[in-house]
Amino acid sequence: MHPALHLDNLKRLPPAVRSAATAAISADTNRYRAVENIRLVRDYAATRKPEHERALVVPALYRILDPLKIPNLDSLPTNLFSDTPPSESELSITKATLALEALYQLQLPDSLGVDLWPRILAWVQFLHLYNPGNLRAADREPGLFTHSILFASRFLDHTPTFRLMVCTPWFWFMLGRAWMYATKLPDPEKRVYAFNTIFRFTTLENVTETSNMDELLNGVGGTLSNLACLVVEYLDALILDHDKSDSVLPEVLYVTFVAGIVGFLNLIDPTLRDTTVVRTSPGRLGEELLAQPVLGVLLRLLSSVTKTDVPGTLPALQHLFVLLLVFLPSKPGWTQLPAAVKSGFVPVLLLCARSTFAPHLADHLRLCFQMILPPALISHALLSALDAGWRDIETSAKEITGFQIPDFQRMWTEFSSLVNERLQVLHAFDTSYTAMRACDNLECSTLDGKKNFRRCSGCRSFYYCSSDCQRADWTRGGHRNTCCSYGTLLIGERNNDDSSSRQRSFLRALIHHDYQKQRFTLHSRQAIFLSEFPHGTFLTLYNYMEGAVRIDIKEAPQSFEPLAGPEWKDILSRAAASGGRMGIDVAIFTANGPTQSRYPVIPLRSNSGVITDKLASLASTLTPSTYKVDEQARQSQAMYLVKTILRIHETNDLHVAEIH
Ligand SMILES: [Zn+2]
Ligand SMILES: [Zn+2]
Repeated sequence: MHPALHLDNLKRLPPAVRSAATAAISADTNRYRAVENIRLVRDYAATRKPEHERALVVPALYRILDPLKIPNLDSLPTNLFSDTPPSESELSITKATLALEALYQLQLPDSLGVDLWPRILAWVQFLHLYNPGNLRAADREPGLFTHSILFASRFLDHTPTFRLMVCTPWFWFMLGRAWMYATKLPDPEKRVYAFNTIFRFTTLENVTETSNMDELLNGVGGTLSNLACLVVEYLDALILDHDKSDSVLPEVLYVTFVAGIVGFLNLIDPTLRDTTVVRTSPGRLGEELLAQPVLGVLLRLLSSVTKTDVPGTLPALQHLFVLLLVFLPSKPGWTQLPAAVKSGFVPVLLLCARSTFAPHLADHLRLCFQMILPPALISHALLSALDAGWRDIETSAKEITGFQIPDFQRMWTEFSSLVNERLQVLHAFDTSYTAMRACDNLECSTLDGKKNFRRCSGCRSFYYCSSDCQRADWTRGGHRNTCCSYGTLLIGERNNDDSSSRQRSFLRALIHHDYQKQRFTLHSRQAIFLSEFPHGTFLTLYNYMEGAVRIDIKEAPQSFEPLAGPEWKDILSRAAASGGRMGIDVAIFTANGPTQSRYPVIPLRSNSGVITDKLASLASTLTPSTYKVDEQARQSQAMYLVKTILRIHETNDLHVAEIH
């Protein structure tokens, strides 16, 4: 036994306290007096006397907390103190509660931890389980757990005590429960102490031991969802504490705690560790975190941590980026991206790019500006979020000179010019865009405002200018045979959700814009294709997966993987039968994150086949083989192509971009 626990120490206490302490541990027949005695001891422990004098009461407290005195739960009444005098077990409970209160007031030698902790744990566990009707657990629990954990923090540097605590599974329950209450502690200094204790324990490998993890989870409410919620709440509290003008949270601790919590997440969910690969599926904890407003919190952390320069800042930043790069490309992360942009994602990235840490964050920033953001610039919601602060963002980007990342300037220029172009489309769409449609009876192909069409009620994908046209397409056009198989070509699940129908219209406008802008190149390549395969059917691919559109002309296959099925065959035959009014245009978009694509067919329809006819006749005058090998022939043919296509474009032939 530790010398400080010997009963002899009681003799050095003032007489009144000494006799109270002695009486409190002896089997007193007067049970009221026993409670009075231990109260007196507790009050003495809380006095302003020098620490070594107050600590003399410890031998008494130690004995009161003897685990052998813990009553059997089953034999206890549901109402404490229901009759007088208190029973032996009720007396033990009251005495232990007061002894804990007294103990928590004291600064004790580190080495006492080994003796005290088993007793404290046993009693706290009992007090947590024992919920008599007249002592509401809700009132008692926060104090019980937060005080215990604050007390634990005094032994953090005493290895034997520390080891003892981490190898007791129930300690982890206590830690979890204390964590739950710590963010709500009113005293900021106590909060910092509690955070420190939580940090020290949760970043230990021991947390991954199943029994410890289970207990920790039980402590925070039982589920990963509880834990995720707590993590976000805790980070939120850290930010608030750090940002206060009278903050008692030193910068270095703030950064340590932030890195610590990320380290904790890494320990329990390996999918949150990857630094290099953009992945699409965070693990279970990641998913639970994404059900919380975690991206907003991460961005706030990123921005405040970037502004610090204490040791540990760089690893903290790198960890935060890893989380972002795991979260953003996933489906839930992707849907939160507009909100993240609204709360300043791009300015935060620029802040990182101009910080002294930039060279070490180059890969992360590159991923953000090349893989995460550009493919998302097809989203109406995202562009709208970006639109609000874009002018300021561009201005502040101009102020960044001498980037530490070699290719950042080029990366940024490409990104911002794409944003500017898309914002133009957005503004035109928001102010003046009227969606056009083409009658799906290919013999008719009337082009008109969207509203003037009736929709096929079978597939809800085909539109007709009149019931005559609908009838004609049903019989002669063959829609009768394929109507039932349409519906898989939709962008997004067709529903009445406003945003998704707006998004579909926006994509229509975007494709139309890119068609208009690139139609010269597009038509040259179509003509060249036709010259090489005079009877071939081609496919025009609008690829938005990397940001700026990339247009490709390919031979249309008989079966097309992303669109396999009868609809594809129908599209092929309709295009062939349309006399050039309908091309086969496929857009490739990012869906649910950069690595997942969606392939909707967007017939870019014309009210006549004039352009296609002219391209075909142009193709017949080209000589593909010389075009390829002879440089002079190539140049003269190129000139010829330019002139001819410019003339074709003078044709007043209306094209409309339309997405089904
Ligand atoms: Zn019609
Ligand atoms: Zn139909």
